[in-house]
Amino acid sequence: MKALFLTGKAQVEYKEVPTPECPDDGLLLRVEAVGLCGSDVRNYTHGSTKITYPVVLGHENAGVVIEAGKDVKEYKVGDKLVLNPAIPCGKCYYCENDNRGLCENLKVVGTDVQGGFAQYMAIPGEMLERGQILRIPEGIAFEQVVLAELLSSVIHAQEMLEIGLNDTVVIVGSGPIGCLHSQIAKLRGATTIVMADINQERVDICRPFGATHFVNSAEVDLTKYVKDLTNGIGADVVIVAAPSAQPHQPALLMLKKEGRLSLFGGLSKDDPWTKLDGNLIHYHRLKVIGAYSYSPCDFQKGFDLLAGGHINMDLITHKLPLKDMEEGVKLIQTGKALKVVLLPQVE
Ligand SMILES: [Zn+2]
Ligand SMILES: [Zn+2]
Repeated sequence: MKALFLTGKAQVEYKEVPTPECPDDGLLLRVEAVGLCGSDVRNYTHGSTKITYPVVLGHENAGVVIEAGKDVKEYKVGDKLVLNPAIPCGKCYYCENDNRGLCENLKVVGTDVQGGFAQYMAIPGEMLERGQILRIPEGIAFEQVVLAELLSSVIHAQEMLEIGLNDTVVIVGSGPIGCLHSQIAKLRGATTIVMADINQERVDICRPFGATHFVNSAEVDLTKYVKDLTNGIGADVVIVAAPSAQPHQPALLMLKKEGRLSLFGGLSKDDPWTKLDGNLIHYHRLKVIGAYSYSPCDFQKGFDLLAGGHINMDLITHKLPLKDMEEGVKLIQTGKALKVVLLPQVE
């Protein structure tokens, strides 16, 4: 089979390698669609200490079973599947306390297990055992459900933020994550949704995804804009969906009392610090909430929303052959693409 290996920082090799063997208790999947995720772009561009090179990335996978292990009963050749890539151990404190997304021994497809940047991948038995696999219903395209992983983190974050009816939500960063946040906020009942980005091209392409107001925050003072929009009260929720600490303090200033701030975007390991006015948090009773990972039930919800047609799929702006992954990275980094899906079967 053909597979795309990340061999170092900003180095890839697309080459012929042996097709993996089907495990006795697992499956062999022909990968039909794999999402190029923000974390893949980051790992490609900056490298990662979590990676042992060479590595086959790709954790947003959908495909068809072409072989089922001899001990497998519930899946058969021809089944169309989407994979939840976060494999919890099932045994640690968090797993036992019904919070699998925070598993201490979490294994992830694409880093700990060969990912979907390849024509085929072996699905280990533990993924079947833990319910990591969902069947794609007839008539649903592979690329439509590939967004389930991204969507599940968004769903989990918004449950923590308790976004509800008539809320004003500000989303800083209008990439694919920001666009999923605006769609989910709308579904949860938010009526004023402000999308802000410092890149005009990204402000322009995020318009069809549920937001009501669009701001280029490089040109407009976003805090003043939000205060004016809310008669001086402020927003219920601000979500920073950008890998930067710069928007954190302005976000506090644009919240109303008892407002909620989500630090959705991770920061660079070299400079992970942020500065927040502690008195503002204290006197305004603000909530600052982290956002990482999701539970299997969030994945199911994300999958159902996608399969049910509740998410605008124009979010996928580009579908490229797997070998053109670096081209996809460029399109994302310049703000020309929202979501890029790679097709390993297309040469
Ligand atoms: Zn992802
Ligand atoms: Zn665990």
